[in-house]
Amino acid sequence: MSSSAEDKSKTPETFKNLKIKTPPKNSVGFEALKSSVSYISKYTKPLDAVKASLKMNQKGGFDCPGCAWPDPDDERSSLGEYCENGIKAMTEEIQKTLIDRNFFATHSVDELAGWSDFEIGKSGRLSEPMYLPKGATHYQPISWDNAFNKIAKHLNSLENPDEAVFYTSGRTTNEAAFLYQLFVREFGTSNLPDCSNMCHEASGSALSETLGIGKGSVTLDDLYKAELVMVVGQNPGTNHPRMLSALEKCKKNGGKIIAINPLAEAGLIKFTNPQNPIKLLTGGTQIADIHVSITINGDVAFFKAILLKLLEKEEQEGGVFNMDFINEYTHGFESFITDLKTYNFEDCLKASGITREAFDAVFDLVLEKKKIIICWAMGLTQHQNAVDNIRELVNLLLLNGSIGKEGAGTCPVRGHSNVQGDRTVGIWEAAPQAFLDKIEAKYGFKPTVKHGYSVIDAIKAMNEDKVKVFFGMGGNFISAVPDTVYSAKGMAKCNLTVHVSTKLNRSHLVTGKEALILPTLGRSEKDHQKSGVQVQSVENSMGIVSSTKGVLEPCSKDLLSEVAIVCGVAQATLKDRTKIHWLAYQDDYNLVRNDIEEVIDGFQDYNKRLNKPSGFYLPNGARERNFKTKTGKAHFTINKLPNWTLKDDELIMMTIRSHDQFNTTIYGLNDRYRGVFNERRVIFMNRHDMKNRNLQEQQVVNIQSEFKGVIRKASNFKVVGYDIPKNCCATYFPETNILVPIDSFAHTAKTPASKSIVVTVLPH
Ligand code: SF4
Repeated sequence: MSSSAEDKSKTPETFKNLKIKTPPKNSVGFEALKSSVSYISKYTKPLDAVKASLKMNQKGGFDCPGCAWPDPDDERSSLGEYCENGIKAMTEEIQKTLIDRNFFATHSVDELAGWSDFEIGKSGRLSEPMYLPKGATHYQPISWDNAFNKIAKHLNSLENPDEAVFYTSGRTTNEAAFLYQLFVREFGTSNLPDCSNMCHEASGSALSETLGIGKGSVTLDDLYKAELVMVVGQNPGTNHPRMLSALEKCKKNGGKIIAINPLAEAGLIKFTNPQNPIKLLTGGTQIADIHVSITINGDVAFFKAILLKLLEKEEQEGGVFNMDFINEYTHGFESFITDLKTYNFEDCLKASGITREAFDAVFDLVLEKKKIIICWAMGLTQHQNAVDNIRELVNLLLLNGSIGKEGAGTCPVRGHSNVQGDRTVGIWEAAPQAFLDKIEAKYGFKPTVKHGYSVIDAIKAMNEDKVKVFFGMGGNFISAVPDTVYSAKGMAKCNLTVHVSTKLNRSHLVTGKEALILPTLGRSEKDHQKSGVQVQSVENSMGIVSSTKGVLEPCSKDLLSEVAIVCGVAQATLKDRTKIHWLAYQDDYNLVRNDIEEVIDGFQDYNKRLNKPSGFYLPNGARERNFKTKTGKAHFTINKLPNWTLKDDELIMMTIRSHDQFNTTIYGLNDRYRGVFNERRVIFMNRHDMKNRNLQEQQVVNIQSEFKGVIRKASNFKVVGYDIPKNCCATYFPETNILVPIDSFAHTAKTPASKSIVVTVLPH
């Protein structure tokens, strides 16, 4: 074992090259093309890149391993159905450098832990299974059989199956995810935390309660036809770039767009579609008609202010609320209105941080438009009151009747390509009883009904010595989770940590007493099995299930698919006590889909419908005004204003992603849409707040958070003066995850409150 987990959780980029420029007011265009080409040429073999890019997001091709934005149902552009960050996600996967036993013999775990996340990620594709024995300083090669047997030995020596945790990242396909949860349930636990615990769990929780389905209700076509789209707490230009094309279409059809976010992000100011030569030359489309510079966590106050003004208008003039919809389809209207009347408009406006002028401009549009879509991402979901944020926006849509009709509805935008699908096929620590009953009926074993650990619960359990084995199916757990030092200590307490990965990442370097790295195929690679090259499937943000099939030969002959890894681990662990013929699934993934069809609603004729070039839509009750709630109606809810105040020296901080980043993967050190180059350890501050603290541009500071008497510190950040509301600041994820207290999470959903961390900024 190498040195302390605490040391390994640091990311030591240096400061010397930081450059700050004025943030641009336009996005994509030539700059995106230039950046994509330079990235591809630096890191890939050109022929692989051409072959893969021609097939990514095309019908019959492979699904982008980046975000979960849907592909158009109809025609796909032959020029390329992807964005700059999709190209970068693909490039990461098809890197020309391979790392093998020689790499690990040269570099100790301690040495690698000293590299930056960027350097770790760029070391290359993993090409053979590796094992870190107890007390060793270097990973060493291991055969697949020995790796499976080691996992089996650890799992079978646990006193209780609940001493193992099985994490899933959102890249895992439906087939692999279904088998994985099946193995975990047959093994005897529900400990299936996943990345949605950290992003849209709050959306799922709020939408299930109010609309009866934990997913969004709109399609791409709805976005094109909306009269008003409100984009709240989301930066699509970086995190879901092709959404900009959909917003551009909406604008072309006469729709209006309001961006509600503490930062004015370039993607929502103007978008130059790189596939439109005229726009490339003439300068793009303005996207947001209004940008509302809301204070961090001012969202409930903002929506309440709108609701109060709508109520006032309704009482004065009538005809504002859609009473036909409310009477026929909703529940709880009267108590919602009674509660709303206890709030004061001016107080709400003040708490939202919005000027009266900006509010009036927004209000006029909301009042006028009858087809409203609200889109959101982690700016809403990562607060202690995240569930309230989403329930309050649903209240607005219900008053307007903007659910279950063309051009209207909810649009939570998912971050990772199959995060939604993984949950649909059973990756859920709190799966419904009906699903468990179907598993029992189909496979003849009784899955435990006890709820398992979410991500937060799993980390706490590790620290309390209740977890002995951690198994990560994809992802970079330690970089994604909050409270890095505490989480790393928990990982170090495990007897065995296992990661199924395509590339090296920090989680391989923050290990348990023993550790395994199991290298797997990328999306772009052909999955050869006994019955031929396999097709798999994924579900995007709008509930469309489509096929994904790799086109390149695997980068190494020693890779296994995620399906094969699950089957291998399951067979080795469960041996004669399994009721399932695991190796048959590995030979032919059609068999997995046949099972999914039997166990999960909406997948009838799965194999047949997967052949449809654009896939198929899963049922969505909210889309048809068939609300599967307790009452059969959509629910109004009562939500309180968040109750926190800052002391004089405190700021509220949110973590954000740079443009050269996808979740925990760092593509580069630039954030050109915010004018920051060559450095990630920066803190964006309002210039007035800087002046109050006597802080200069690029001064080095330390940041500390205090939560329930515990102080957490992050050192060496450079101050960047920025247009961000007063008393707010922003830093990059994952560098400041260290400041996110493990106990600060959304009520009901347990999403970490990574967007509202109370901090003080101190000169270094
Ligand atoms: S928008 Fe998302 S899914 Fe589409 S190419 Fe870009 S990263 Fe990939």
